[in-house]
Order: sequence, then C-alpha cells, then structure tokens
Amino acid sequence: MTEETRVARASAKTRLRRRLRFLRTRVRELKMIGKALVSTKHPILVHIIPMRQCNLACTYCNEFDDSSKPVPLEEMKKRLDILAGMGTSIITISGGEPLMHPELDKVIRHIRRRGMIAGLITNGFYLNKERIERLNESGLEHLQISIDNVVPDEVSKKSLKTLDGRLVMLSQYAVFQVNINSVLGSGVKDPDDALKIAHRAVELGFTSTVGIIHDNNGQLKPLGPHEQEIFEEVMALGKRSFSRFNEFQHNVARGKEHNWRCRSGSRYLYICEDGLVHWCSQQRGYPGIPLSQYTPEMRHREYSTKKFCAPRCTVSCVQQVGMLDNWRDPQNLSPMPITPPATPQEELVQIGHARGDS
Ligand code: SF4
Ligand code: SF4
Repeated sequence: MTEETRVARASAKTRLRRRLRFLRTRVRELKMIGKALVSTKHPILVHIIPMRQCNLACTYCNEFDDSSKPVPLEEMKKRLDILAGMGTSIITISGGEPLMHPELDKVIRHIRRRGMIAGLITNGFYLNKERIERLNESGLEHLQISIDNVVPDEVSKKSLKTLDGRLVMLSQYAVFQVNINSVLGSGVKDPDDALKIAHRAVELGFTSTVGIIHDNNGQLKPLGPHEQEIFEEVMALGKRSFSRFNEFQHNVARGKEHNWRCRSGSRYLYICEDGLVHWCSQQRGYPGIPLSQYTPEMRHREYSTKKFCAPRCTVSCVQQVGMLDNWRDPQNLSPMPITPPATPQEELVQIGHARGDS
C-alpha cells in the first residue's frame, strides 16, 4: 500500500468515526433536552475546573493563576459522582488550562462512565496528534477553542496564526465535535478578525460562535454598528451550532437589556477548583457552598432566585440553558446573603476560552 493510500484510508476512517460519534452525541443531546423539559430538578450543564493554572496570561482574564496544583483525580471523581447523582446532563471541563491536568483523560472517561455528555474548553496550545487521539479514546464529545485575534498581540496569544496548525490537526484526527469561538467588543483591535476566524473554522469543518466582551461581572458592553454586522454574519455562519437559538445574544449585540430567568445555581452550576458551587464564572462567591453540601433544596431555591445581573448578562452558555425553562416558573426570591461577590473591577474582560461560551 502506498503512503498516499494509507493516509487516505486513515482519514476516511476518522471521518466515519467522527460521524458516528456526532450522531450518538446528537441523540444524547436530544434526550437531554427532553429530560430538561420534563423535569426542573436536575442540573443541565455544569462547568467544572480541574486546574486553575494556565500556560498563557491573557491580560483580560480573571480565571487563571500561574502556580496552583491540579485537583487530584480521586477528588475530581468524587465531585463528578455527586453531579451524576444530581442527574446532571452535560459536564464541560474548563480552567485555567485543563490540558495541563496530568490525568485529564481519566477525568473525561469518568464523566462518560457516569452517563454524562463530556465537553472541554481549552486554549489549544497543548494539542498535537497524540493528544487528540487520547482525547478521542477518552470519549470526549465536544471541544471548544476561543481565538481572540488573527495575529498574537500583547493582550492575547490565542491567535489564528499561533493555532492554525493545531486546528488543521483537529480537522484531521479529532472524532469529537470542535467549536471555534471568536470575540467582539471593546478591547478587540480589529473586529474583522472574528469573521476571518469564523470562516477558517467553517472551512475546516468546525462550528463557529462569537462571544461579546463583558465587564468583570459578566455585564454588557454594547457593540458598534460595524461590530454588530460582523456579529450577525458570524452567527449565520454558525448555523450547525445550538447557539443559533440564542436570541439573547442578538440583544446583547444591539446593547439591549433582555428579559430572561437565569437558572444558575440550579440548572447551571460552576464548580471551582476548591469544589465550591458558584452561579457562574463571573459571579463567583454566589452562593459559594461546597458541592458536597449543596442540597436539592438549595438548587430549588436558586431556581426561583431572581439574579440581579440577568438583564445585562453576556454569559451565553447560561442563557442557552435558561431557554429551556424561561417559559415557566417566574423567579420571586432574592439572592441569599452568603459570601459577598468579588469587588467589581473597572477593566473589561472578555468571554475567553475559560468562560465556556458557545
Ligand atoms: S483566557 Fe484562557 S488562555 Fe487566556 S489566561 Fe485565561 S484561562 Fe488562560
Ligand atoms: S445572569 Fe446568571 S450567568 Fe449572567 S452573570 Fe448573572 S449569574 Fe452569571
């Protein structure tokens, strides 16, 4: 067999495996939606942090450090078991940079073994053929990389230029779904970059989404007219992604407040490296309770709690979860006076890869 034939057969096999995993994941996602519509008692999506440390230091980011240790595997398994016991549908691993965790493959296997959908948000710098194949074997179903610009600058090294080779490898070897998230808003030098990134994503067979820069509390900063045009164009390109159903994001782009019910703390949970439950990455401290002590009653209370940050929220993954319950159960409780939130800061942050936006 010639080298050319061998390569052609290998990529045909990868395409077939990708197709099969995609179909299986879609079936599981449809079941997840059905279960979410029937019952409001379980979390739909959980972001979990196995590693706060990151190999990069994007200047807008408030979600990393440069020294913390990975959460031990046994502790991660305990947390995942608790989440499985709650009936959680999807676990997305985030960071910091989760690929720095030495036993990440085993964490993903455990998610799948417990019957949950497994996703990963990474900056992509540690991806290579061998690592992609290990992720394939672990059962990973979704991977998201957020790319901030076309060429690296002093704000972010997550650029098309630095990552394109790894994207090509993903298109050749990954059997899981890949989404590329670009960003728009204040602090992004050239808004046209988002469009170039989205076109490249689609060219490589991936889905593409776009996030909008928010401040340190996940709050809205409206886009200018040209950025809005680009936003709509990228959203149209991302037609295979569930994010196209997210009407809230169109309001965010137009600078309009939106009327929705944020179900964080209940249908969406953010579990930090210390094992505490938070509303989301941008409202850490609410409620700040250890996962092992987080009762169904507490989840139920958060389900009915009106979030003060909802009208100008930009955290699209929580909004997508919220759509499943937005039509029912008005919220009439106030946040519990537990741990105060982090002091708001002046500078902007954006929906980086660790924000889980898709
Ligand atoms: S945005 Fe992502 S890659 Fe950049 S410093 Fe934060 S965690 Fe690391
Ligand atoms: S509305 Fe919900 S998702 Fe948005 S910032 Fe507030 S708690 Fe987080």
